[in-house]
Amino acid sequence: MKAFEATRYFFCKAADQLDISEELREALLMPDREIQVQVTIRRDDGRLANFVGFRVQHDHARGPMKGGLRYHQEVDLDESRALASLMTWKTAVVNLPYGGAKGGIGVDPSQFSKTEIERMTRAFVDQIHDIVGPDTDIPAPDMGTDHQVMSWFRNQWEKYHGFNPAVITGKPVEEYGAKGREEATGRGVGTLTQKLIKRLGMTPEKTRIAIQGFGNVGSHAAKFLHEGQFPIVAVSDITGTYYNEDGLNIQKLLRHKLAHPKGLLEGFDGAEHLPLDALMKLDPVDVLIPAALGGVITDDNVDTIKAKVIVEAANGPVHPGADEILNERGVTVLPDILANAGGVTVSYFEWVQNRQHYRWSLDRVRQELDHTMNEAFEDVWQMAAQHEVSLRTAAYMIGISRVKRATELAGLA
Ligand code: NAD
Repeated sequence: MKAFEATRYFFCKAADQLDISEELREALLMPDREIQVQVTIRRDDGRLANFVGFRVQHDHARGPMKGGLRYHQEVDLDESRALASLMTWKTAVVNLPYGGAKGGIGVDPSQFSKTEIERMTRAFVDQIHDIVGPDTDIPAPDMGTDHQVMSWFRNQWEKYHGFNPAVITGKPVEEYGAKGREEATGRGVGTLTQKLIKRLGMTPEKTRIAIQGFGNVGSHAAKFLHEGQFPIVAVSDITGTYYNEDGLNIQKLLRHKLAHPKGLLEGFDGAEHLPLDALMKLDPVDVLIPAALGGVITDDNVDTIKAKVIVEAANGPVHPGADEILNERGVTVLPDILANAGGVTVSYFEWVQNRQHYRWSLDRVRQELDHTMNEAFEDVWQMAAQHEVSLRTAAYMIGISRVKRATELAGLA
């Protein structure tokens, strides 16, 4: 099943619970605008290389559109469309004054040098600078991009439009970035995992966690949960699964990642090294946190998953068929549009600071983030209990209702 079809499935399941006409459903589902551009660069050795770049702007009823830039070989129009739609519901669930967008370049960044990635980013901005801006569409980091890419993006965009750091978020802290942005998604995942575990009557010290992906989101979630006394028994990245049944030394893993030229766990000696797909099947594991790619839990592998709780740090990790099976089995799934909303929340704080030319302390950022995440969790929990639906359907119901209301208030002539 393609990514957008999966998003459509979850949307329709929630819309069925709401009073919403067929025609409005279609209007809310379809993206406002989709852009596909050619990105051409000269490589370090003098050859030319061509890539395809995308930006999908899904909905702006609640404010300027917001969403990450992904550099990954699987980026295409369908994936960008699905992720842009998720951003619309996500910003609405945490009640930010934004709509949703997403985009990126179909490229494996590990095969290119830093200077090539810079040229690629600047060439992409040359193609899309007219359709993004602080009041229209504000990109941010996602898989394969980081604060350095955001800085190049801003610098290139400002060559056309003049100084305005609010055009992009996730910038370096010294360059109008927000303190706490880098850790924000992982912190949000950690905060809500803790809350959910408590709500389910489980004990942190006895709750074994496995995390797929040890990039920005996975590593920060691991650090936060480790500090909260949860044993993290396994983590993985593209080099494999690292397992220790007594709990991994997360500080040592973080130091190893920092020292590795590509930020990988390759060569880590404090754990058993297992194949990539072993992480999903580990038993016993209580909480599984997919924090890498989408579509990793499908009808084909759902039966091998033993965890009682799944926290979707990644976007779209569970396919609809697998989601139904997990629901039937009583597995609690904390959905992506709630679980990983910490990143866009602190991106919003960064945008606010940029517009006010004012800096918040790290304490303030963390406090406001925790408050926003906790409030959204309570809203979703209550909606799920009231309508006897899953947390995912409840989160979509809240997101869709808010976007529907804004659309109707603006007027549908
Ligand atoms: P990242 O590029 O920093 O890290 C990705 C990690 O996944 C790396 O450790 C990589 O080695 C690993 N990985 C890739 N393929 C894998 C595989 N098949 N098995 C195991 N590990 C694999 O990316 P990120 O920013 O941490 O994003 C991860 C996920 O979180 C994405 O789905 C992204 O959309 C979502 N997300 C990110 C943010 C953010 O603020 N960065 C916000 C919301 C959602």
